[in-house]
Amino acid sequence: VASPAYTELEVAMMDWLGKLLDLPEEFLNCSEGPGGGVIQGSASETTFVALLAAKEKSVRDIRKFHPELSEAEIKGKLVAYSSNQSNSSVEKAGLLGSMPMRLLPSDEKGQLRGETLLEAIQKDKEQGLIPCYVVANLGTTPTCSFDKLEELGPICQKENIWLHVDAAYAGTAFSCPEYRYLMKGVEYAHSFNFNPHKWMLVNFDCSAMWVKDAKYLVEAFNVERIYLQDQHKGLAPEYRHWQISLGRRFRALKLWFVLRIYGVEGIQKHVRGQIALAKHFEDLVRADPRFEVCSSNMGLVCFRLRGDDGLTVTLLEKILERKNIYVIAGHFQNYHVIRFAICSRLTEKKHIDYAWNEFCSQANEIVGINKYETKAEKKLPTIQIDNARCQKITDNEKSK
Ligand code: PLP
Repeated sequence: VASPAYTELEVAMMDWLGKLLDLPEEFLNCSEGPGGGVIQGSASETTFVALLAAKEKSVRDIRKFHPELSEAEIKGKLVAYSSNQSNSSVEKAGLLGSMPMRLLPSDEKGQLRGETLLEAIQKDKEQGLIPCYVVANLGTTPTCSFDKLEELGPICQKENIWLHVDAAYAGTAFSCPEYRYLMKGVEYAHSFNFNPHKWMLVNFDCSAMWVKDAKYLVEAFNVERIYLQDQHKGLAPEYRHWQISLGRRFRALKLWFVLRIYGVEGIQKHVRGQIALAKHFEDLVRADPRFEVCSSNMGLVCFRLRGDDGLTVTLLEKILERKNIYVIAGHFQNYHVIRFAICSRLTEKKHIDYAWNEFCSQANEIVGINKYETKAEKKLPTIQIDNARCQKITDNEKSK
């Protein structure tokens, strides 16, 4: 009632965006069902909001069959799960929501697998605990790995656990059909999130969240007051019940601008261009026997100097001291790695070459120019999305 235009534009933009990513129809505001999208401030906020909704849902579901149990008794038994590769914000959501967050081991590709989740759930159930919430990653922070949603989804469905998908960074890639196979199983999710403010050219802050049934948010967050009442109930989503704050920003407007300026093809071109730049960087690293690539997914390449971890730590220190490029540290299978992420829409091949020269000049000082005559045996398996498969999908799309 205070600003119908911004609610209307947010409803429309979340549908445009949902269609851009080819999300299941049930997530869209325009679908027949109770689903819809809302813009939150951050992925952290969204993971927390979904956890609170999951918590309320569990309490209601369990009390239907066990009315003798108090709300406090049930809440004290709820547990959540994610992988040890998930972003710090996932653990934080558990902290804020007073729900233990089990960070389960990922496999050698950095993916959370169904059998690992199932084992953890069974163990907790044997202890009388109640599994409530799972956060699956599509694009982990350390290496941009993709959890096996099609394995996690059916388990969550069977165990009546809320499945939240954190695709904060990599979600933008689903605007390209060739990457959508990585979100296979998304139909099992209760909520899905990605940040247009990360990779989709929208200024901070803009975090897109979809739920299959908005009722769970409203049940968790609805607090009425006389000064909040109006005569138009049910005509549009009351977004104040879908979030923590009462007041709202007009974030849909900047989304509208970006979608109108770039269009679907413009966004796809941006994503493909950045992935191609990352591939160029990866090729440069692979061609130098002093280095090894640990993972290369989307716009993120993780690599290290072969040999002792100290070499990579020194390289990173030197690079940061010089302040010509900015990269950060990561861990991969207990090794130190450097995370090289391409983020800016202004990045071109010449900037990648410049960055590579920076690494080479410092590596020359640390290990010398001819450290290896021939390419040494690779020590680490490389995590990589299936480029051949992507190419096939792109070709099919083109021929369509
Ligand atoms: N999830 C993933 C996978 C991320 O990579 C990040 C940030 O890098 C976040 C969540 C947190 O995002 P935000 O700053 O929007 O809370």
